[in-house]
Amino acid sequence: MREIVIAGNWKMNTTPFEGAMLARKVAELLSAGNGATVVTVVVCPPATHLAMAQAGIASVTTESGVKVELGAQNAHWEHKGAFTGEISASMLKFIGCRWVIIGHSERRQWFGETDETANKRLLRVIRNGLRPIFCIGETLEEREADRAFEVIERQLKIGLDGVENIGRGGLVIAYEPVWAIGTGHTATPEQAQEAHQFIRSQLSEQFSEEAAAATVIQYGGSMTPDNAGQLMACPDVDGGLVGGASLKADSFSAIVKAAAEAKGRG
Ligand code: PEP
Repeated sequence: MREIVIAGNWKMNTTPFEGAMLARKVAELLSAGNGATVVTVVVCPPATHLAMAQAGIASVTTESGVKVELGAQNAHWEHKGAFTGEISASMLKFIGCRWVIIGHSERRQWFGETDETANKRLLRVIRNGLRPIFCIGETLEEREADRAFEVIERQLKIGLDGVENIGRGGLVIAYEPVWAIGTGHTATPEQAQEAHQFIRSQLSEQFSEEAAAATVIQYGGSMTPDNAGQLMACPDVDGGLVGGASLKADSFSAIVKAAAEAKGRG
């Protein structure tokens, strides 16, 4: 049975105080028994809010035993040095992060990230004992040109180059078709399943069938409480990377609940 991982990518939203309240509210709603014991739940606030969000989560988890884990939205490939504006994986680990999003399409689109830089960041995150959420996915132009699988294959080949192990408790892949992110045009369950199945077959070739079978593949792109159940019912969809709907504790926790129910573990 594969792990289910639902992660919230807050992007550049909320004030530090709002972030702490949001993290706390998520933990509170989950502690009411909504799937939290069977789903790994992660929140990824802006870097400036990590410590406060951690405090918000901790104030609830200590009472209830329900865990919401903390993630960052990026990490540099070096341990330290002259890299103005960057944050290292060891710094993130020090303040309580367990997860880091790597290679998000917004980083690729607006900040010049490439398959190669995403690979370097990924390797460092793994080396520091953090769990990466490695994002891949095609643009609309690429899908319309029937190049989606070619793009995914390249992103996996270069992006995971040098990774020694995948599987249970490690790296998570987020399939995020760029045309679905923040647009309201969610992939259909058929489109998601087809892509996820392809990703798993690629992982099987690059690593092993056993490792591929144990790897969590999230779907990301306009996931909401209304469509999460159908997407999560797909056999190769093991979780979600959620943007907009993670900014409201109610909708984020409803997605967690829908995910647990869709997998028959609610
Ligand atoms: C994302 O940013 O990873 C994402 C999936 O955003 P949204 O849910 O808003 O489409």
